Amino acid sequence: MAETIFSKIISREIPATILYEDEQALAFADINPQAPTHFLVIPKKVIPKLSDATEEDQTLLGHLLLVANKVAAEQGLTDFRLNVNNGAGASQTVFHLHIHVLGGRPFSWPPG
Ligand code: IMP
Repeated sequence: MAETIFSKIISREIPATILYEDEQALAFADINPQAPTHFLVIPKKVIPKLSDATEEDQTLLGHLLLVANKVAAEQGLTDFRLNVNNGAGASQTVFHLHIHVLGGRPFSWPPG
């Protein structure tokens, strides 16, 4: 699997504001926040995009959502938005699966 900048954040080769870490997952602040609170939840396992995940990843994917919940609560968020961009046509730029968690401002629907 190709290394991305997120692999380098996992290995601490490049700095990040780490909000949560366990054996399977990492959460860190987005470098270009789109809301007052904007962090990313990633698996340590390299899965380039959501559509590359398999049945084998079922527990891991659930875990990522629970990490998003936990860190959102720690950040004082009650209402927040989760977003996963899957593929370049959906604005994915870093090909290591990540869940955006955004909060601290109102959100409209549908998203742009
Ligand atoms: P995507 O467009 O869904 O792939 O989102 C990639 C996200 O990664 C963007 O919101 C970027 O701001 C964020 N990002 C890219 N490089 C870094 C970094 O070095 N640290 C933290 N966030 C990053």
